[in-house]
Amino acid sequence: MSSKPSILIIYTGGTIGMIIDQQSGALKPYNFDNLIDYIPTLKLYNYEIDSYSFEPSMDSSNMNPEMWSKIADVIETNYEKYDGFVVLHGSDTMAFTASALSFMLQNLNKPVILTGSQLPLGMVRTDGRENLLTSVEIAAAKEDETPVVPEVCVYFESELFRGNRTHKFNAQNFQAFGSPNYPALAHAGVYIDYNRNAIHKPNFKKLKVIRNMNCNITVLKLFPGITENTVQSILNADGLKAVILETFGSGNAPNYPWFIDQLKKAIDKNKIILNVTQCQSGMVEMGKYETSVQLKNIGVISGRDITSEAAVTKLMHLLGNLEDPEEVRKQLQNSIVGEMTVN
Ligand code: ASP
Repeated sequence: MSSKPSILIIYTGGTIGMIIDQQSGALKPYNFDNLIDYIPTLKLYNYEIDSYSFEPSMDSSNMNPEMWSKIADVIETNYEKYDGFVVLHGSDTMAFTASALSFMLQNLNKPVILTGSQLPLGMVRTDGRENLLTSVEIAAAKEDETPVVPEVCVYFESELFRGNRTHKFNAQNFQAFGSPNYPALAHAGVYIDYNRNAIHKPNFKKLKVIRNMNCNITVLKLFPGITENTVQSILNADGLKAVILETFGSGNAPNYPWFIDQLKKAIDKNKIILNVTQCQSGMVEMGKYETSVQLKNIGVISGRDITSEAAVTKLMHLLGNLEDPEEVRKQLQNSIVGEMTVN
């Protein structure tokens, strides 16, 4: 490794690299031949910067576990060669990819910063330039030869967040992401101000990539008036192993006998039901209201303050790697990589 910081920019797609299709007028992915030539300002950093582009690049609505695994592969293959990684990604599913990578990249001791933009780099008012430049600087930041942020993060519009705590909450604003239940890891103003107490400490162990993901899960978002038929068909879907139950407030759900009965039947068949709140922030507290007491009694697991995005990828990861449902249930109650507050 040279004495200059070395960064690998991994381009997957997303608005940051899109162009307007002349016929339809819609934004579509565009393949950069050489990303760095496109943003000459990058050369002003005294860093070694290389790029890797996935072909074809994609709108992140088409992201999937196979692509997460490919991104993890690129990071693993290049892990020793670079000080940090910047992943350019569409903002729509960035929170899912960041969460998935946080579970896949076990013992990560280097920065993996996901970023993108709301306007393409080719547009005059693009937010992509600042997002990319600052992400590169964060990925290169070291103190006493140790990376300042050795974890998977999302950087967007001046804020650096822990990836598995983020949620895209705005489809138009440059400030598109929030981390409602965990403080920002850094704020970029005139200086990049790191919130050191909130950032993982490196463990200096060898990186291990865990690729297996099991997609036999679903999200069941409750609403007043949901029918027994709907709940029954979802819980009995072929091959289904786990359900993220998006509940009201602090983890409440209807306490109609048919509803509790359907959930209990699913749990008796070894299906996992994870209670995650529909609220943007705050946590599940089963037992606080009468409308969550029975959920607790029948064995629904509390997702505490986990986001739906982290819950989806955590379940895929656990079910992909553990045979015993009891072990999955146990791990769901632990925070694996800081995705949930446990006390
Ligand atoms: N549809 C785009 C994507 O997620 C939106 C974006 O990049 O912001 O790929």
